[in-house]
Amino acid sequence: MLNYSYPLFRPPAEANNLIIQATYGCSYNNCAFCSMYKTKSYEVRKLEDIFRDIDVLSNHYPDARKIFLADGDALALKTDYLLKLLQYLKESFPKLRRVSLYASAQNILSKSNQELELLRINGLNLLYYGVETGSDVVLKKITKGVNQKQIIDSLNRACDAGIKISATVILGIGGSKYSEEHIKESAKVINATTLNYLSTLQLGLEEDAKEKFYENFSDFTMLDDVELLSEQKNFLELLNPTNKVIFRSNHASNALHLAGNLPREKDRLIKELDFALNIGKRGDFSCFDF
Ligand code: SF4
Repeated sequence: MLNYSYPLFRPPAEANNLIIQATYGCSYNNCAFCSMYKTKSYEVRKLEDIFRDIDVLSNHYPDARKIFLADGDALALKTDYLLKLLQYLKESFPKLRRVSLYASAQNILSKSNQELELLRINGLNLLYYGVETGSDVVLKKITKGVNQKQIIDSLNRACDAGIKISATVILGIGGSKYSEEHIKESAKVINATTLNYLSTLQLGLEEDAKEKFYENFSDFTMLDDVELLSEQKNFLELLNPTNKVIFRSNHASNALHLAGNLPREKDRLIKELDFALNIGKRGDFSCFDF
């Protein structure tokens, strides 16, 4: 129906929602572990072209309630541009309840508090945000372009503006050498913020990302599934969020699928991990399907 520019990515939680491409690619496109948009040059689409897509979608799905704005970091768009887009979405989908997009620390920090609030008031409710790690050493090695302080500041600025955050941490991104540091510092980030959703992925490196990754991270060694589950357990043990956080580890990359609310269900999640770890240490992951 729409002529999407591929590859096209969206968070698992947006599987049943409409996707509209506001940009092509990622404005940063430099994280060493990521090859999602390596085949695309970053481009801001013309508003009139996006409006045309919205017209097509609103004819077919007039009752749509949730919309995801692709590609890699649509919050890189200028605030005026986003406000026009949000306004058009609101007029086109009378039942619209949620607009979400991928956002980076850089995107959030480039906007003022007033701009963030204005975006929320006009319907931008949810940001998908890749923390990846809270460790400054690892952040540098994966060329994320920001440090821990900037990550915490950006998350808190978005939260203070009333925008919900769904954050991801990548298990294994520190390799063996920085595993402990990665987990400790990532938990520190989460505990210093009031984000709403948290998920963990397992690091997977596509072939076209490997060269750059190992060039920057020469002392990296990949963890196996048992070590990754052990990281996950350590991470959960260190998490003490002050607000309710919906935790998920349900990405295709995860050896074990987990779901629960933190801090309330932390003990149950850790018990599930202990159970899986015991089986994993015996070398049989085939029954991991909670
Ligand atoms: S991880 Fe996100 S910000 Fe980094 S290059 Fe990939 S899409 Fe862009």
